[in-house]
Amino acid sequence: MDILYKSTRSDAKPVAASAAILQGLAPDGGLYVPTAIPTLARPLAELATLSYQELAYEVMRLYLTDFTEEELRACIERAYDEKFDDPAIAPLVKCGGAYYLELFHGATIAFKDMALSILPHLMVTSARKNREEREIVILTATSGDTGKAAMAGFADVPGTRIIVFYPKDGVSRIQERQMVTQRGENTAVVAILGNFDDAQTAVKKMFGDPALNATIAANGFRFSSANSINVGRLVPQIVYYVYAYCQLLAKGEIAEEEEINITVPTGNFGNILAAFYAKRMGLPVRRLLCASNENRVLTDFFNEGVYDKNRPFLLTSSPSMDILVSSNLERLVYLATGEDPEMTRAFMQELSANGRYALTDSMRAAFAEFVGGCASEEENFAGIRKLYEDTGYVIDTHTGIGNAVYRQYAAKTGDETPTVIASTASPYKFAQAVLGAIAPGKDEGLDDFGRIDLLTKLAGTKEPAAVTDIRTAPIRHNRVADVQDMPETVLEILGISK
Ligand SMILES: *Cc1c(COP(=O)(O)O)cnc(C)c1O
Repeated sequence: MDILYKSTRSDAKPVAASAAILQGLAPDGGLYVPTAIPTLARPLAELATLSYQELAYEVMRLYLTDFTEEELRACIERAYDEKFDDPAIAPLVKCGGAYYLELFHGATIAFKDMALSILPHLMVTSARKNREEREIVILTATSGDTGKAAMAGFADVPGTRIIVFYPKDGVSRIQERQMVTQRGENTAVVAILGNFDDAQTAVKKMFGDPALNATIAANGFRFSSANSINVGRLVPQIVYYVYAYCQLLAKGEIAEEEEINITVPTGNFGNILAAFYAKRMGLPVRRLLCASNENRVLTDFFNEGVYDKNRPFLLTSSPSMDILVSSNLERLVYLATGEDPEMTRAFMQELSANGRYALTDSMRAAFAEFVGGCASEEENFAGIRKLYEDTGYVIDTHTGIGNAVYRQYAAKTGDETPTVIASTASPYKFAQAVLGAIAPGKDEGLDDFGRIDLLTKLAGTKEPAAVTDIRTAPIRHNRVADVQDMPETVLEILGISK
């Protein structure tokens, strides 16, 4: 069956997967959703014998129905290769009565690599299929993590360029070093004299600027975005939930058809939405635990049916989850309305006008498998410390939120269903906060790399190559620009003279 992609906000004609990937956002501002959620085509016991790459093909082919077998297999092979430091790509670690699905073995040691290592290949293939001959220019404003993961994915991919803007004084020193040492002739990094919002707003303006778009088009370029709402990021994320289940089966941890729970530390609602799609495809999943930090908008949403972003924005030690508007939730709301684009658009308009909308009880019944939970900074740190003391296993501060919320849930409900916790970042990426949890005070006087060394000792694990690399990698980018000069900087990088 051919799966097409339709907008959550209008009845416009659905488009093929490749067109949806190339476009990113639907022209009416909605998100693309599949016209139907396909079911797994082979029994799980059979899928459990496959490698990550083979399984990725079996899952993704059901969604990207206008890709040929050869095209899709080529994308998968280029994405999931030695860039990952574990041959399992997403290994599952049994520890302290739960299973941690490690999604941080890619180039930037966080879960964004799982999708951003394949998106560039899906995009180039999509461009070819749609006879787009212009070179694709990805523009990204980043508060630290996404920009680096996108660059690592797009570096040296023929037919693409990527330009990343980050706030000069708004990222950590490790994050800045990761960015300015980025390799790849097609990558460019610009430090902006402003904050993240300034950079983000300016990037959005460039996407919509007709004169700028015409100028770059005349020189053989088109803009595109690597945003987390892209179907080309959502679909690859479904794979690892099926893979987790398959590993549990293969290791004899669960019986065929046995249900599992999945816990996901959540920000923009992209990762957990992929778990929901996996369930709808037939994966035996009982509960989906949506874990939030102190920015608990989603916890309140699942408990009360009201989405309300009118509250203070809190800075926590899980910064990639500090978010008040979770863009991908629109896809769940659309399903809850019975796939009604008028209603969905009305909810989203309410959100942008008043910062709030309320669902009816019957709508909430459409996603009853979700349980919302949140953890404070103290609960997060205590949970990381307890797991370390009990088992020696060290998790990062984002995974820590998933861990704490799962432990609360299990204590409260007595639910003993085997539970997979998505482990979204390596502890080495957030070494300072992690040390604060497992060895408070011990890192006094140490610099960033001193902390890494201490963590290596305490965790008994090897320093990831991504960290070793930035100790010595030469600095390759030194551009700095004012916010108002960003369009001019883009033209200069593309070699277009005015
Ligand atoms: C992006 C990110 C998250 C949140 O994922 P969403 O898909 O936005 O919900 C959680 N942890 C880490 C480490 C991340 O980088």
